[in-house]
Amino acid sequence: MMDIALAPPEMQKPGLSGLPAETMAAWLAERGQPAYRARQIADAVWGGTIASIEEALALPAKLRRELVETFRFDTVADTEVRVTDGSLTEKGLHRLADDALVESVLMHYPARAGARERHTLCISSQAGCAVGCPFCATGELGFTRDLQMAEIVDQVRWAARRLSADGRRLTNVVFMGMGEPLLNLDRVLPAIEALNDPHRFGLGARHITVSTSGVVPGIRRLTALGPQFTLAVSLHAARDALRDVLVPLNRRWPVGEVVAAAREHAAATGRRISYEVTMIGGINDTDADADAMIELLRGDHAHVNLIPMNPVAHTPWTASAMLVIERFAAMLQAAGIQTTIRGNRGQDVGAACGQLAAERAGEPPAPAVVRRRARLVAQSAAALLGERSDEPSPVGVGE
Ligand code: SAH
Ligand code: SF4
Repeated sequence: MMDIALAPPEMQKPGLSGLPAETMAAWLAERGQPAYRARQIADAVWGGTIASIEEALALPAKLRRELVETFRFDTVADTEVRVTDGSLTEKGLHRLADDALVESVLMHYPARAGARERHTLCISSQAGCAVGCPFCATGELGFTRDLQMAEIVDQVRWAARRLSADGRRLTNVVFMGMGEPLLNLDRVLPAIEALNDPHRFGLGARHITVSTSGVVPGIRRLTALGPQFTLAVSLHAARDALRDVLVPLNRRWPVGEVVAAAREHAAATGRRISYEVTMIGGINDTDADADAMIELLRGDHAHVNLIPMNPVAHTPWTASAMLVIERFAAMLQAAGIQTTIRGNRGQDVGAACGQLAAERAGEPPAPAVVRRRARLVAQSAAALLGERSDEPSPVGVGE
């Protein structure tokens, strides 16, 4: 987290949506304000109808001015929107007060027979990511900083405001945007509490999904808390040699430990684990990979989602062919593992996240890209033979 004393002045103002209730109560008391103002302020923040505290006319003008001077009403106020997929997908590129860029993606799923319409928001938990998965646009960017709690929930408030303008409501939130949420749990957990709280955002726990690349201590911490939300684990490969390349964090917490922690989570919470597999042509989509995955997950209360890789610059890879993905799915299903193929719109998960920000960050110099591609080809070739690379882990993450 950034040192607050060095942060730009705007950054030093806390976001109202992330302010603990006691802090607000104390701030109001110092100003001789009645305690009920806290409720009025919370209604203004979470009501979803106004874009600034100046519009909260229930509050006295002097208090509104003091609030503006001390706090930020919206930490993602500077947002650029791109609408794609025939208006079914809206990407928000949020410029934060210190110029860090993060993305959220709002996906609309029209009603279908037997299913109501859904509006799912994919949000970011960090600016950049230290895990560095080579197929991920965010991984390319490296790590900038953890998001504050307000910066996390304000992405959700932003989307809810957009939807409410047409009388629609947000139905699901997934932490599948930029960053590794389990490496920022101290802010992600209070953010989820706020999203869940009926007096604040009021979204049911079942409608919130947190995705992790396999931070075992974080999974255990969630297990100790009991059922909170759906946990998704980005698996990508069941063999350590290959997973070392695809998810560098695997060198710290190998796949067996990750799945064991996920299994304990499922047993303790009664909630099914969702495994995500980004399907990369010729890399992790072979019969040997399907067999290894069956071996790893057989008998578990789990669901596997196969997602064709979204193209990302600077990798030598592309998505697996649909026929190959179907064969992989059929092998898992035949072994009794529930498996779904996600459409290659890619926006079903945060696959599209990180790409706009990566675009803005500019292209790395060409020779570096060539070296990076060559290294990936060599590493994945070794992994296909089942060899673990002895290159040092590039992962710079703490427990
Ligand atoms: N860091 C967490 C959550 C954010 S990434 C995690 O890794 O789980 C969310 C999901 O997007 C992950 O399952 C990740 O594997 C997937 N993803 C990233 N880049 C992708 C790409 N190019 N194509 C398809 N899925 C991708
Ligand atoms: Fe980080 Fe997830 Fe991207 Fe890997 S896939 S680099 S963990 S955001």
